[in-house]
Amino acid sequence: MKTERLDKVLSHHGFGTRKDVKKLLHSGVVKIDDEICYNGNIHIDLDKSKIEVDNQILCIRKDVYLMMNKPSGVVCSNRDGLHKTVFDLLNDYYKQDFLGGSLHLVGRLDIDTEGLLLFTTDGNLTHRLTSPKTHVTKTYHIELQDFVPEELRPQITRRFADGVHIAPDGDDGEYDCKPANLIWIDGQTCQLVITEGRYHQVKRMIAAAGNKVKKLKRIAIGNLELDKTLLLGDYRDLTDKELSFYLLAKSI
Ligand code: URA
Repeated sequence: MKTERLDKVLSHHGFGTRKDVKKLLHSGVVKIDDEICYNGNIHIDLDKSKIEVDNQILCIRKDVYLMMNKPSGVVCSNRDGLHKTVFDLLNDYYKQDFLGGSLHLVGRLDIDTEGLLLFTTDGNLTHRLTSPKTHVTKTYHIELQDFVPEELRPQITRRFADGVHIAPDGDDGEYDCKPANLIWIDGQTCQLVITEGRYHQVKRMIAAAGNKVKKLKRIAIGNLELDKTLLLGDYRDLTDKELSFYLLAKSI
């Protein structure tokens, strides 16, 4: 059960400063579980309490969920002495502490990778999406450096389906990948669906096939697809539909 002070909750839902909220409470228009409440100090249950203001039920927004179309050239970390970070792209509203906590990243993309990046305050969702036990799929669109003739494509697809062996990279040792689904669009473009997220995983898989990634873009996590109308660097809240699916999905 997560509780929070009533005045903070009201303030977070657009009812102004603590001073404004105090006035609002004194005017007797705020009800908690059908009882008029004058006291902003009380703690309410964010999951169960019913808050009404002027007889309108307040839909309590505890957590924030954002998708971004990450551009190349920005790093997935909170701070970086050298490069711009994905947090630098967010407006100041998202830099505050929300009722559910502060915004953090759900997984990372390399500096030169574009595409779907999730931010949330919801630690449970982050755990469910990033835990190695849950096998959530990640779909990448890949542009290859070298053209692959048609007759060679099926054997690469098969190697990936069988679990390709990748070479060590940085601190991550050599590794047999889990089966992955490679779909060819043409000889230089393909889509890869993986269920893991090891360091430089896609680049290492492509290197194991004797090629090199020229451009990498994540286009889906599970059934959540990157909104094609988002320009690079833009972001938006997940819709209720995207969210309800995410929170309920059996595969997650
Ligand atoms: N695999 C990579 O190699 N890089 C990414 O950014 C994501 C997956």
